[in-house]
Amino acid sequence: MTRVLITSALPYINGIKHLGNLAGSMLPADVFARFKRARGEEVLYICATDEHGTPAELAAAAAGQDVRTYCDEQHALQKAISAAFGLSFDWFGRSSNAPNHRLTQHFAQVLEERGLIEERTDKMVYSIDDRRFLPDRYVEGTCPHCAFPKARGDQCDNCGNLLDPVDLIDPYSVISGSRNIEVRDTRHLYLLQTRVEERIRAWVDANSENWPNLTRSIAYKHLDEGLIDRGITRDLEWGIPVLKDGAPRPGFENKVFYVWFDAPIEYIGATVEWAEAQGKDWERWWRTDKGATDLEYVQFMGKDNVAFHTVSFPATILGSEEPWKTVDRLKAFNWLNWYGGKFSTSERRGVFMDAALDLLPPDLWRWYLTANAPEGSDTAFTWEQFQSAVNKDLADVLGNFVNRIAKFAESKFGGVVPEGGAPGELERKLFADLETGIADLTAQMEAIEVRKSAQALRALWVLGNEYLQVAAPWTAIKTDPERAAVIVRTALNLAGLYARLSAPFIPFAAEKIAEALGVSNLASWPSGRVADELTVLSPGAAIGAPEVLFRKIEDEQVAEWTERFGGAPA
Ligand SMILES: [Zn+2]
Repeated sequence: MTRVLITSALPYINGIKHLGNLAGSMLPADVFARFKRARGEEVLYICATDEHGTPAELAAAAAGQDVRTYCDEQHALQKAISAAFGLSFDWFGRSSNAPNHRLTQHFAQVLEERGLIEERTDKMVYSIDDRRFLPDRYVEGTCPHCAFPKARGDQCDNCGNLLDPVDLIDPYSVISGSRNIEVRDTRHLYLLQTRVEERIRAWVDANSENWPNLTRSIAYKHLDEGLIDRGITRDLEWGIPVLKDGAPRPGFENKVFYVWFDAPIEYIGATVEWAEAQGKDWERWWRTDKGATDLEYVQFMGKDNVAFHTVSFPATILGSEEPWKTVDRLKAFNWLNWYGGKFSTSERRGVFMDAALDLLPPDLWRWYLTANAPEGSDTAFTWEQFQSAVNKDLADVLGNFVNRIAKFAESKFGGVVPEGGAPGELERKLFADLETGIADLTAQMEAIEVRKSAQALRALWVLGNEYLQVAAPWTAIKTDPERAAVIVRTALNLAGLYARLSAPFIPFAAEKIAEALGVSNLASWPSGRVADELTVLSPGAAIGAPEVLFRKIEDEQVAEWTERFGGAPA
């Protein structure tokens, strides 16, 4: 048996995620994890909330909570909503938990021993009234590039330029609004990425053969531009304390590690959390000297995260010179946009995971977001496309096939799998077509081609409808009941096979089908001859028609939601 470690980019703690976040990391990772488990592989799918940094502190302040309480609540919310969407994490950890503290401090210590960390003096904005430094988003002011008056310390939302807080004109504190501000010297730790640049390039050269173009091109763009040494500490209270030899580092008592240093380490930290909670061994997943050699590590992320996963995190891992497992395949996604613009968490623009589930069952979203995954380029969500995917694929093709044959078996064969007769020419053609189709689907799933996988699955559903159309059991039953029995038995088994093949995409509907038809091997991927796979439901076994699997989306609903969520620009 082979093993696969799967991680999806850590959702940030400041609120429920929108559908774009879901489509670009967690959902495709879940589909892949479910597929691999069905294939009988040992899967560990790890995710966690990313809880440090100024946005978390500011969101907590806006909510009138201390940051620990805020993160506790938001983590619980994100965990619940992810479960409701069927995201099958083996562990959903927290970057603020103890294992990540220990590991982050360990990496910093080792990197310093390797000569890759040094203290430098920085100029930082200091608020005299607040008696503290104002890193990143704690300071706003006028953009030096475009004169926008509310530019944030790390970036101008108007012109998009990345900023340094000291560049702002007429800066003010986001905490108090005070303009009583000066620039002071402060010490920070720097990770000397320039010294590991060659090692990272060699590693990318050696490993990127199987990465998608999107991932590889972003990695080389950053390497070709040249890496810079990066500050990995901040003047904040909420975060991982900076230690030296196990004690607070002198001069760093009021500083913590920068969120971008500790967040990717939480992939390991969350695995330790899982191991501690379940009495398992985490090192066989992460330490190549402890068995983590016979496994594939696959990461899922949006394209904005690729540089951190191909350059920054490898700088930490490779720089340590310790035997850590590095990523084998990086699957990156473009943006799922909201009509012409972007989904926005801060502006609550678009549909968010909680609102989505209030409208419709998770499978409908899961299907649309995988069938339209933003793989080759950015894609735009529209209600019309969503309606079309649900109605034409799920309701008209899969739902129609399953309900039609189950109802027919109920009314004409007393609710059991009919016996008698033997497969004929039509069935042999169906088996051959299915075999080709399943091989295609399996290959696309292994390659993590999400859209092509959904297309291959839909093509398999279509085969069933075509078969029923030609075989016409409703005609056969009048003249040749044995023949009708063969058709119905074949089609019922095919519905059961669809449940297994569809389960990674639409696990809730798959379970409904399996339950109604008595499919006992739902979580297993077909690997044998199709003719054998289609004998799982034995003659005489009781079956029922599942309740309606997918309700069609009406035009009135589309109109209502467009109005409510502010869909298409007028
Ligand atoms: Zn600007």
